[in-house]
Amino acid sequence: MKMNTLESEDSKSSDFSSTDEISLLVIILDTNPGQRILRDNPRTLTQCVDSVIAFANSHLMQKSQNKLVVMACHSKTSEFIYPNSDKPLDVRQVDGQYEIFTLVERTIKRNLAKMIAAESTALCNESLLAGAISMALCYIHRIQKTKPVGCKLNSRILVVTGSGDSAFQYMSYMNVFFTAQKQNVVIDVCALDQHLSLLQQGCDITSGLYLKIPQLQGLLQYLLWVFLPEPPIRPKLVLPPPVKVDYRAACFCHREMVDVGYVCSVCLSIFCKFSPICTTCHTVFKIPGPLAVKSKKKKMKL
Ligand SMILES: [Zn+2]
Ligand SMILES: [Zn+2]
Repeated sequence: MKMNTLESEDSKSSDFSSTDEISLLVIILDTNPGQRILRDNPRTLTQCVDSVIAFANSHLMQKSQNKLVVMACHSKTSEFIYPNSDKPLDVRQVDGQYEIFTLVERTIKRNLAKMIAAESTALCNESLLAGAISMALCYIHRIQKTKPVGCKLNSRILVVTGSGDSAFQYMSYMNVFFTAQKQNVVIDVCALDQHLSLLQQGCDITSGLYLKIPQLQGLLQYLLWVFLPEPPIRPKLVLPPPVKVDYRAACFCHREMVDVGYVCSVCLSIFCKFSPICTTCHTVFKIPGPLAVKSKKKKMKL
């Protein structure tokens, strides 16, 4: 049990030598019942949760210093479902299984059931993924501050989602991606249902991997093959070839993806149509039209 409580570590610091490296994996699982794959077949959630638990345990199995955090993301809230914030569950060995694995499975399932029971009946198909990533970054930042001196923390975030990425969260996405890049946190994304262009940009910015899985039935296999190896090992493996990243931005006025737009020269806000006043920083621009005015004058003389 002690293995996963990173915070209460006064006795723990002696266990770390100066060359110790901790790999912290934060898994964000989108459990929003409004996403299409879950609306079509609610049982898909069980399959996704089981695959993620097996994947999480594989991460813990690799090295005893490996750490795990699991978060569930909904349309209105995101929560940490592993480890338990209060007292860890009391788990005894079952069928010879390592107690930590049993603890991971039971804690995740229990907290997830609690969270789903508290969910209101109104379905919303947008998940707060940007918010969940920022919570994960705050957690990683805290662990970074409290870790024993001399040990290195490698952190990464894996987002497993079937929702689409909404341009409404464009600003929040960009803020978390660049914060992650600054903190050296890798963001990996496993898309279950649709292509996610904003999250793909995040993977590219933080040198993570983006994969839209071709078959949901093979989720665990894709997780183990693509996302289990640590980022430093990945260049040695043959992974899915990188795809071209769609770097389109969303306009701040309608939150729609634009190919060509107007950028405020002061605050770099993006707009799909020209507006004389920037709605973000309130800078006033001259209306572009000396040519138009000239031609009008000429016409009047004629
Ligand atoms: Zn617009
Ligand atoms: Zn501006």
